[in-house]
Amino acid sequence: MKNTNILYQHGTLALLVPGLLKGTLTMGELLKHGDTGIGTGEGLDGELVILDGVPYQVLGTGEVRIMKNEATIPFGNIHWADFKPAGDIKKLALPKLEEHILKNHSANSFFSVKIKGHFSGVTTRAVIKSNPPYKTLAQTASDQRIFERDTVEGTLLGYFAPALFAGAAVGGFHWHFLAADHNFGGHVLSIDGINGQLTFQDLSSLDLHLPTDDADFMNHDFNKESDILKVISEAE
Ligand SMILES: [Zn+2]
Repeated sequence: MKNTNILYQHGTLALLVPGLLKGTLTMGELLKHGDTGIGTGEGLDGELVILDGVPYQVLGTGEVRIMKNEATIPFGNIHWADFKPAGDIKKLALPKLEEHILKNHSANSFFSVKIKGHFSGVTTRAVIKSNPPYKTLAQTASDQRIFERDTVEGTLLGYFAPALFAGAAVGGFHWHFLAADHNFGGHVLSIDGINGQLTFQDLSSLDLHLPTDDADFMNHDFNKESDILKVISEAE
């Protein structure tokens, strides 16, 4: 049964912070919980954008490939798409889009936003895969590439998590992008102009799946990272 109200999340942002970057769920397993999502590969191997059940992986090289079912991830969000139209957006910069959305929707629940359209001034990043022994999220994520497009057709996919959940999830908005020609994408840093139909999906339940088969995770002492939220806010 496809429950379109559930946001399924594997892992937490907090576990990435000290460097628990091992892949602990296969893409095949993740895809049992939805057809639309975002995430990252093992060792922060690029940025994932899952659209219509296809897991696109924007690598640190900028190349976009489809992730294999047996590949693993340390962190991902996925849900069954049931987006509803919520008006047309014209020439809106990303911060203005976020403002517009929160003017019309409570910041106290989870939701997803998808905009297929025409974008200008798009800047994304993709992290270069690192190998064990893993460093911290901040150290690993500093090895990233920045990509830019003046104009591009594509899909912007985002999730919103209430501030209360920062650490477990990415607090606030988290946006990933994939170009229609699959030659560009990644974790969105900024967009100057968004043109397209805003579509919206409320997600009333969070299904948080933890890597309980992973000894590194189960034995890690998270109390050591007292500044975890600070690191998270700096990383994002
Ligand atoms: Zn991201």
